[in-house]
Amino acid sequence: MDTIVLDKIEFNPSTPQVFKKLRIKKGSRNEGLVHDLIEQAKGIGHPKAIYTISGINDKDEKGVVLDGYRIDSRVMRVNLSDVNRVFPYIATSGRELYEWRQTKDDLLENYYADEISQMALRTAGKTLLDHLKKTYQLGRTSSMNPGSLKDWPLSGQQILFKLLGNPEDAIGVQLLESLLMVPNQTVSGIRFVSESDFSNCELCPRDNCSHRRVPYDKDLFQRKYQ
Ligand code: SF4
Repeated sequence: MDTIVLDKIEFNPSTPQVFKKLRIKKGSRNEGLVHDLIEQAKGIGHPKAIYTISGINDKDEKGVVLDGYRIDSRVMRVNLSDVNRVFPYIATSGRELYEWRQTKDDLLENYYADEISQMALRTAGKTLLDHLKKTYQLGRTSSMNPGSLKDWPLSGQQILFKLLGNPEDAIGVQLLESLLMVPNQTVSGIRFVSESDFSNCELCPRDNCSHRRVPYDKDLFQRKYQ
């Protein structure tokens, strides 16, 4: 299956929404600065996403084979028990905002620019999810992301990028030798139909994670995945 690129994603963050996220109060010292940053980001922001549809060629106790590429992950194996296709994807804030942020030498300004870029990433992720649900009439879906769990470590990025052809040419996302991605506000993963609302966070014991979506369930691995 070819890859599909979504590159006409509008980025139009509302000022009250950004002020709330950055805890900026009306009349405060940084109100003008953040207002300017929002206008700049709206002018250049160009979030994007890429995905493909991969068939599951094989499943065994320890993993799955997607389009001929083996992934060793017991959690993925169990999560994909009832499906025969998945949607590998990357969503990104885009190079434009990444390069814009690099020009911000002031620490606080740089932080605000990064937070605004994160909103662009969320816009890309939501647009992609809405697109998948509408185009393929998907019901409830879940996602797994390489590096979120020991069971599917960051090295999983290599196969994910292979499944997606050439994400650098298509949407400007580069995979570094460290397996991190540039732009930093980028997320990669595999989405699949699931009635059980899987979240990596349920299996992740990490303390103090500001992105945690659901509480850690310490018995879940033993209960469902062992
Ligand atoms: S708790 Fe944080 S680090 Fe762990 S999976 Fe969730 S978002 Fe990722």
